[in-house]
Amino acid sequence: PDAKDNILETRGLTMEFRGFVAVRNVDLNVKRHTIHALIGPNGAGKTTCFNLLTKFLRPTAGTIVFNGQDVTRTGPAATARLGMVRSFQISSIFAHLTVIENVRVALQRKLSTSFHFWKPKSSLYPLHARADELIEWVGLETHRDALAGDLSYGRKRVLELATTLALDPELLLLDEPMAGLGHEDIGRVAELVRRVAQDRTVLMVEHNLDVVSDLSDTITVLTRGSVLAEGDYASVSSNPAVREAYIGG
Ligand code: ADP
Repeated sequence: PDAKDNILETRGLTMEFRGFVAVRNVDLNVKRHTIHALIGPNGAGKTTCFNLLTKFLRPTAGTIVFNGQDVTRTGPAATARLGMVRSFQISSIFAHLTVIENVRVALQRKLSTSFHFWKPKSSLYPLHARADELIEWVGLETHRDALAGDLSYGRKRVLELATTLALDPELLLLDEPMAGLGHEDIGRVAELVRRVAQDRTVLMVEHNLDVVSDLSDTITVLTRGSVLAEGDYASVSSNPAVREAYIGG
């Protein structure tokens, strides 16, 4: 594949914990404007891989290249500023603020990390307009002035997505976006993820294989820290080694 098509590439990505290799020589190729899923049985190394990409861990070997730039040793905040942002973190929203206030805080944070430290107050109005736009885009407009803490679990997840989008990421890293959601909320979040991927890229770790088959353009299957298979759902789900890993693993 043409390197310019890949927004994210890892080469030989490896993470060793005191002699135990949790992630071994992983080469990922995440194509721009696609939904890419990382799956695998328990203990496969998905979480470790995700933590390497989000810079919560530093790899013992290998490289991570985002938009042609080596970010292997770039910290989490600097990586986020480059456009690679993790979402669905444990309670990244403020329960005591309203829905719209949460989005404004996120937009404000984006502003304060750019180079405009001082802005006349009137320049905040576009920020307010942008916050309303985002709330509408994710479909929370009827909950705009509700306290975030009073939202249903599914709507909190949607609000988290809105606050992540406020940072205007090119690549969203989603850690089990459907975890804990009921059928209806899964449909709602899936639809949002699909819309996000129209002009951004999504890489997600997800256990729900129905969701993975429904949403993913590309799936990477990990087992015991290594890539076992990569391709679309039809190709990986018909792969005997993948079946074996899921049933026998
Ligand atoms: P998955 O998310 O696919 O279930 P993990 O990445 O959580 O897999 O774990 C992969 C392997 O690495 C597991 O065997 C786990 O016990 C091990 N592991 C994960 N984190 C650590 C750590 N901090 N120290 C030692 N071993 C770890």
